[in-house]
Amino acid sequence: MIRCFIGLGSNLDDPISQVMSACQALGQLPDSELVTVSSLYSSKPVGPQDQPDFINAVAMLDTWLTAEALLDALQAQEQAQGRVRRRHWGERSIDLDLLLYGQHTIQTERLIVPHKELTSRSFVVVPILEIAPLLALPNGQKLDLLPCAEDPTLIRLSSPVIDL
Ligand code: AMP
Repeated sequence: MIRCFIGLGSNLDDPISQVMSACQALGQLPDSELVTVSSLYSSKPVGPQDQPDFINAVAMLDTWLTAEALLDALQAQEQAQGRVRRRHWGERSIDLDLLLYGQHTIQTERLIVPHKELTSRSFVVVPILEIAPLLALPNGQKLDLLPCAEDPTLIRLSSPVIDL
């Protein structure tokens, strides 16, 4: 089985419910087991600032699915939750990113893993380290909390209640 990390984000249509629904869907994926989910966090939007704050979380999933099949499932879930692309880095009901797929490095037209923004966004780094404090990246590097630890705009809200 491959241990994956999936980033979840929403700032539309009741974002906490959107993130919880996506977590529940991850728990239903075939040939997979949802191991744990981080706390929920509130973060400021990266792109245009005239949009609501985001709710973010990171899920840890063990799976036998290939990375492509997992991406298909994540994109299908985005569609199921009514995701519409309005503008780049804009508001969305749900965004699901494959952050890490075990220790694999993937570069195809559809998939870049580790995710490009993995180490630079506090709303990704902080929740990952919450659930996997010793995580090493495929290049052997440890994820560095320090640049993110002092991001005053990232607020830890609560632990989600999800049937694992
Ligand atoms: P976005 O939904 O804006 O995060 O970007 C979606 C696009 O990014 C899709 O076309 C995916 O094929 C592509 N993509 C590349 N790498 C990844 C990844 N690691 N996780 C999710 N989508 C990815």
